Amino acid sequence: MKRPIVYRNNFIYQIIEKDLSLDKSKIIRTRFPPEPNGYLHVGHAKSICLNFGVVQYYHGQCYLRFDDTNPVNEDIQYVEAIKNDIVWLGFQWHGDVRYASDYSEKLYNYAVELINKGLAYVDELSPNKIREYRGTLVLPGKNSPYRSRHIKENLMLFTKMRQGYFAEGKACLRAKIDMSSPYMIMRDPVLYRIKFIHHQRVGDKWCIYPTYDFTHCISDALEGITHSLCTLEFQDNRRLYDWILNKININVHPRQYEFSRLNLEYAVMSKRKLDLLVLHNIVTGWDDPRMPTISGLRRRGYTPESIREFCYRIGVTKQESCINMAALEACIRKDLNDKVSRVMAVLDPIKIIINNLPDKYEEKIVALNHPNKLDMGTRQIFFTKEIFIDRNDFCEIVNDYKIRKLILGKKIRLRNAYVIQAERVQRDNNGAISIIFCTYDSQTLNKNPIDCRDVKGVIHWVSATRNVIAEFRLYNHLFTISNPWAVKNFLSYVNPRSLVIYHGFVEDSVLYSKKNKHYQFEREGYFCIDECYSTANKLVFHRTVELKSIWKTKNNKKIL
Ligand code: ATP
Ligand code: MG
Repeated sequence: MKRPIVYRNNFIYQIIEKDLSLDKSKIIRTRFPPEPNGYLHVGHAKSICLNFGVVQYYHGQCYLRFDDTNPVNEDIQYVEAIKNDIVWLGFQWHGDVRYASDYSEKLYNYAVELINKGLAYVDELSPNKIREYRGTLVLPGKNSPYRSRHIKENLMLFTKMRQGYFAEGKACLRAKIDMSSPYMIMRDPVLYRIKFIHHQRVGDKWCIYPTYDFTHCISDALEGITHSLCTLEFQDNRRLYDWILNKININVHPRQYEFSRLNLEYAVMSKRKLDLLVLHNIVTGWDDPRMPTISGLRRRGYTPESIREFCYRIGVTKQESCINMAALEACIRKDLNDKVSRVMAVLDPIKIIINNLPDKYEEKIVALNHPNKLDMGTRQIFFTKEIFIDRNDFCEIVNDYKIRKLILGKKIRLRNAYVIQAERVQRDNNGAISIIFCTYDSQTLNKNPIDCRDVKGVIHWVSATRNVIAEFRLYNHLFTISNPWAVKNFLSYVNPRSLVIYHGFVEDSVLYSKKNKHYQFEREGYFCIDECYSTANKLVFHRTVELKSIWKTKNNKKIL
């Protein structure tokens, strides 16, 4: 049975369940609040599956709200890409898209309310001094000399801040809480700072922008969010979240709950770091198939079902952990195994000429698209005098008779076709084998020869005349260390072999099944056509994942 999108498997559900038992009429309302400063990654997918998942289960509402009150690095292109990724993942937000910047005037008025209540003041200490005065985890902070300003003066200065009277860094609005609080976040946090930066939505209307902490809780309350779900690094910020909502005149008080971030081995997840990979041309863009972004995974051939399944499997807890890449790969492998047609492709071709076939020989063979799913139908392939096999599937001489390769003087079965025997090789000027001459046994189409003891196994092949030229892009981890997020100079650990390109052929049946994007290339893995790079004469495929997990057993040999 197909697993539903919604999974009731974590502590957030237990909290909601309890809340609902106290107030049966409650509508559960969550929000997904991305900052439009980059593309979504698989960590965001975890948050999306949780926020949208709970409301699907409880028939609630999930809003999409862009947390766009920091104009630095924000861009409209990210807004569109984020919306697109959420829909692709299979979710739809409730009503219109919301923007924290739409609440600018209201936020400003709440700031004025705090000033009027003597709970906020305009500070003219420099950013460095503010940091210095804040103290440390072991030393209490010091009050700013501007802290005791009169309310009227604060109101006047805050208006001046809005009017552009101060230069950047010359003034800010701070909450008046407690400079000796054991929680650094409560040591008079900054609520508004000056930035003369054009905002992607509101233009140059504002030169003061509210901080995340001030914006987030008020936006949640204005929207009637019931459960504000965020990652664990905001645990301490919850105190400020509650402080602000308790001090202003607003009658909704959402509750914030934290869960652990998703970290993936061999990947960085922070948008700032992903942006550096793009800027340094280490990858071709945010949608490079090596990126852990939703758009990168999609391009690589991941399906929405596989990403949702992954998020389900990893669950939602408060435990910090780092997930093995094999866990993500297992989900896509499982999804594609059931869905996609098998075809044959030769990544690193070497030519075979079958001596005992006439020139221009062509035999149509009907092959199953899926070995266990007859309803997936059949396709035609062509057996011809000249074919390609993978260079790696041939060995001149071996002593290990268990090896499943075509060996000089020995027999092998061609998948879906006949048994052939290698007779001799021809070499090019450099001494490399360029052609293998073989004979075929005409009595062996899908049947074993009378004496099948010599047949060393089954290999895949592609006709040398009925094929499509193809480029195969094989991916390895982007980093050579499993914890690139933990080191300062993570760019020095980029794996030089994270992309390996092969030029070969794929059977021409793929031309007749245009709507298929995903295939299993027999013995090679799951691949996905790249629609941008492919042309009329050449198809480009990304390897989504190998057929079997290699990461668990290989001691990293394969990636380096
Ligand atoms: P980044 O460091 O990638 O920029 P962020 O937290 O600044 O992350 P936002 O756009 O602010 O990114 O995040 C939107 C939502 O997604 C937030 O609620 C955030 O907690 C959640 N989120 C971001 N990264 C992860 C992650 N790795 N795992 C789970 N949730 C995440
Ligand atoms: Mg953020």
